[in-house]
Amino acid sequence: MTRDDARALDAADPLARYRDLFDLPDGVIYLDGNSLGALPKAVPAAIADATTRQWGDRLIRSWNEGWIDAPQRLGAQVAPLIGAAPDEVIVGDSTSTHLFKLIVAALRNNPGRNTVVSERGNFPTDLHIAEGAVACVPGARLRTVDRDDLADAIDADTALLMLTHVHYKTADRFDMPAWTARAHAAGALMLWDLSHSVGAVPLDLTAANADMAVGCTYKYLNGGPGAPAFLFVADRHQAAFANPISGWMGHAAPFEFADAYRPADGMTRWLVGTPPILSTAALEAALGVWVDIDQAQVATKSAALFDILAAAGDALGLACVSPRDPAHRGSHISFRHPHAYAITQALIARGVIGDFRDPDILRLGLTPLYLSHDDVWRAGAILADVMRDEAWRDPAYAERSVVT
Ligand SMILES: *Cc1c(COP(=O)(O)O)cnc(C)c1O
Repeated sequence: MTRDDARALDAADPLARYRDLFDLPDGVIYLDGNSLGALPKAVPAAIADATTRQWGDRLIRSWNEGWIDAPQRLGAQVAPLIGAAPDEVIVGDSTSTHLFKLIVAALRNNPGRNTVVSERGNFPTDLHIAEGAVACVPGARLRTVDRDDLADAIDADTALLMLTHVHYKTADRFDMPAWTARAHAAGALMLWDLSHSVGAVPLDLTAANADMAVGCTYKYLNGGPGAPAFLFVADRHQAAFANPISGWMGHAAPFEFADAYRPADGMTRWLVGTPPILSTAALEAALGVWVDIDQAQVATKSAALFDILAAAGDALGLACVSPRDPAHRGSHISFRHPHAYAITQALIARGVIGDFRDPDILRLGLTPLYLSHDDVWRAGAILADVMRDEAWRDPAYAERSVVT
């Protein structure tokens, strides 16, 4: 692939016009939108309105002018991106908190079964939260196994299979309908973490017959640092499943100020406390970008961007740990190298922002809404420079910050 080839793909790219909806600094090729999505241009004005007008001028009246039902309203906006009905999704809290609620709920709703099965090497918070959640349910335990052993690990004691759809390091993608069916066949419930999938690959929770799902909104959905996360519970489970963090915002009538908890109907019961309105305002503006986007076009472009960097890596002899088949991966590409940290730093110094995942992964996120084929081609050329000159050997690139 030559640079002219990349430019020709840009000329025919149906998503090219979305680049203009984002603010990105000059001189940066941003390959970390899978960790913190870029800033949509609509967000600063939305935050300004939420502060100056809604908070400053309307004051407490704003609760009845769009704040109190923001979690449901944004849930309905996320729903089409994950193949859910509008009343099967709610937005709030964090992915970590949502995982806790759903793991405990699943254990309590699958009596006689005690095990939560998950993948060894899953995203850390998923496993940490599962550890904490099983400790809250008498008899429950967490069992983690390698991906290849998962099918055998699902047995008559499995209450819940909890998987992250796209792996944060390798970009390996599980076949959602197949694994959901496997869990169900064994009598287990299925919980999907879609943090690295939503906005990256087409999703259809309904077609997969999924029970529960969670996901971040600050990655491919560009909701901003720490943006509230989404939680999905299939309609058929909503009446039976209970939120173990029984807060007043999940109460059927919070403003009755009753002592006893009575869960709200539908998804509202999954709320806990007062929603974070300022970050919700940012997320709502960011979701606006997605309204008319064709997910199939996102997937097609993601695959083309991947191929550009995969070819660059192959030419350098780099070990690509991401699947070559686009049907089996998300929207990032990862290379394994013993000096991956220093390489990441050398790239950042040259304006190519990717990230490092311990111990030896260089991870480059491919966000079709605001990256051009030419951007990614140039990133590949800069990677080639860094590798050929061994520029990463500069001792300055060995120093580690807290956040990698
Ligand atoms: C990013 C990510 C998270 C982050 O959870 P927070 O509660 O937002 O910190 C959780 N799970 C997966 C799979 C992720 O990729």
